[in-house]
Amino acid sequence: MSCSTRRIVMKFGGTSVGDLDRIRAVAARVKKQVEAGCEVAVVVSAMAGETNRLVGFCQALSPLHDPREYDAVVATGEQVTSGLLAIALQGLGVDARSFQGWQLPVRTDDAHGKARITGIDGEKLIACMSHGQVPVIAGFQGIGPDERISTLGRGGSDTSAVAVAAAVRADRCDIYTDVDGVYTTDPRIVPTARKLGRISYEEMLELASVGAKVLQTRSVELAMKERVRVQVLSSFADDEPAADDALPGSLVVDEDEIVEQELVTGIAYSRDEAKVAIRRIPDRPGIAAAIFGPLSDANINVDMIVQSTGEDDMTNMTFTTTRTDLDRAIAIMEAAHPEIQYGQLHTDTNVVKVSVVGIGMRSHAGVANMMFRTLSDRGINIQVISTSEIKVSVLIAAEYAELAIRALHTAYGLDAV
Ligand code: ADP
Ligand code: ASP
Ligand code: MG
Repeated sequence: MSCSTRRIVMKFGGTSVGDLDRIRAVAARVKKQVEAGCEVAVVVSAMAGETNRLVGFCQALSPLHDPREYDAVVATGEQVTSGLLAIALQGLGVDARSFQGWQLPVRTDDAHGKARITGIDGEKLIACMSHGQVPVIAGFQGIGPDERISTLGRGGSDTSAVAVAAAVRADRCDIYTDVDGVYTTDPRIVPTARKLGRISYEEMLELASVGAKVLQTRSVELAMKERVRVQVLSSFADDEPAADDALPGSLVVDEDEIVEQELVTGIAYSRDEAKVAIRRIPDRPGIAAAIFGPLSDANINVDMIVQSTGEDDMTNMTFTTTRTDLDRAIAIMEAAHPEIQYGQLHTDTNVVKVSVVGIGMRSHAGVANMMFRTLSDRGINIQVISTSEIKVSVLIAAEYAELAIRALHTAYGLDAV
């Protein structure tokens, strides 16, 4: 095999480094690329399940824990795999060393638990690769302006990989995972989902942001901004093709590199949703600011919002946030009660957000309507709706998620034939 691409970043997710055999297999895969003449930088996630275990420890001790200490704990998963993979590579005769986020450093902002990368100095990595050494970088972690360990939010190793690819000016960033590409929807939910050979940055960004966890949203944002070519592919598949034009996975690229454009490209869902309904608020200007201001100050993301006002000068505000942020959101709303004077606060975590995404929506009407009709035909009640230029999302009861996704996948003609 020859390396038609000179410098690549290879990122391996949790299941790909899930045990020592998997780590050995990853080392062999990296070695193959090195032997083919590529300069390779590797980014690793923690072993499958490890980050959940570490998050669980923090939550068990205190649900409202110090996020700086949370980062100190959860970043350790990636420290382990970076060292183990370097050992495995050395065992195969490949010169390799691990790098922790703070050692490069990967600089981030101070939003502990969901920090943003502000810069990576690629020169250390470029020097390392040009000496024939493979840097194995712990994904998901960096160092904040407070000189403390930070983490990038769940799934953040994808973002580490794209940031490294941009910093070393890599020809491509290969994201190895447990599926062989980006599909029209999660292939674990819909077995007839189709693999997309190419997908535009914009659609991938939208799909990721509404729940397709195959890539972290920020990784796509960064790839789009820095023009990094990203390939999603399987670390479980046997062979890799030699030529660049026969890539085995899905390539995330510019819109104009895509020949055929469907009306709807993909369907995504998110179970990490919580609905908060604040009822019987005396209506007055400034209510939205009084509710969402403190949430935003606390770095809590609010997604869908509906306000409905009755005849009696009372208004209701419903919004969604992530389940992780729900306890904090409730605490903030309770603290704001003296100012907002609402009647009741009601929360529901038995909800799922289902979204359809496609650039084709820009020029075709009727996509949203087809979604509403398909769901209504199945007797599925829509609780909240939100739309963007290329996306329609609905919030429904959790028990209908799979039925809704399958029905929509068929309705938009996405099933593999
Ligand atoms: P990793 O640990 O390698 O980062 P993730 O679990 O984060 O892997 O992401 C891969 C998973 O994303 C797949 O196992 C699949 O269930 C899920 N997924 C969700 N939507 C899609 C999609 N549209 N295409 C492919 N995989 C998807
Ligand atoms: N290990 C981290 C997580 O589970 C980061 C990642 O896997 O991308 O969220
Ligand atoms: Mg992931």
